[in-house]
Amino acid sequence: MSFLFKKTAILGFGLIGSSLARAIREQALATMIVCGDTSAEVCRKALDLKLADAAVSDLAEAVKGADLVILAVPVGAYAEVMKIISPSLAKGTLVTDVGSVKQSVIESVTPHLPPGVVFVPGHPIAGAEHSGPEAGSAGLFNDRWCILTPLPGTPEAAVEKITALWKACGAKVEIMDPKRHDLVLAITSHLPHLIAYSIVDTASTLEGNTQAEVMKYSAGGFRSITRTAASDPVMWRDIFMNNREAVLEILQRFNEDLTALQRAIRQDDGNYLHSVFSRSRALKRAADDKQ
Ligand code: NAP
Repeated sequence: MSFLFKKTAILGFGLIGSSLARAIREQALATMIVCGDTSAEVCRKALDLKLADAAVSDLAEAVKGADLVILAVPVGAYAEVMKIISPSLAKGTLVTDVGSVKQSVIESVTPHLPPGVVFVPGHPIAGAEHSGPEAGSAGLFNDRWCILTPLPGTPEAAVEKITALWKACGAKVEIMDPKRHDLVLAITSHLPHLIAYSIVDTASTLEGNTQAEVMKYSAGGFRSITRTAASDPVMWRDIFMNNREAVLEILQRFNEDLTALQRAIRQDDGNYLHSVFSRSRALKRAADDKQ
């Protein structure tokens, strides 16, 4: 059997890190997997679940001798993690990541790359509102997109190797410019999460009885729209702090469109509402048919 990698260090062994470990194990893509996580509890779980051959809280130790390092911590921790591991990265090591934003990640990682270490940024468009190593699954990336945003001048062989890794884990791979990635994800993922958190927060400020009724009858639109409000607050805080420009641009447009709908309701303009809803329904159905 020919392995793609020898020692793979996964830093941050939560939902995404542990899912990758499972898929790498299942597909025999690396001879050894090391979990690097600042939480001793997570390290213990990684070993209990038999997802890693070794697990350490010392991240510099975790990457020693690794030919592949995968950053899977919240994006706000990238610069700090890179500072810690940088002196221990051997020449020829490939570094990749799974972070949900790409421009700021590139800015956090590249200044700390030692000579001869190549970084190929990546983002699997797969996940769940649960966190931690127990929430992961080997099939999480099956048939899902993974977007790679390599920097100009990145050796072709490095991009090909990370592409092969994701394809072997079941994903479909697309190459994209990082700025484009951040704008597309701002509307497809970041804005919906912001709305979910915000709706739940609004419901929580309603007076007692109404709030209880919201929870009781939440099987409808409320439940489906707010599912993602159960997602990890640290991860999402970091996403918004690190994709500020794109999110603010999309939010500005969204606010304008929402205000137009508000005006139509106030002014009894049913035609306006009907035309927006019809257009949206047609777009949504066409998008669903394509999937
Ligand atoms: P998660 O389940 O919360 O796991 C993150 C892990 O990283 C936790 O074990 C956490 O430990 C650990 N950690 C935090 N700071 C650290 C540090 N400085 N050094 C070492 N370990 C640290 O999060 P996740 O959902 O897997 O997300 C991880 C990354 O994947 C994020 O960058 C996110 O943007 C990206 N992503 C997430 C999704 C999704 O749907 N969840 C989808 C695509 C990409 P503690 O729990 O002790 O803090």
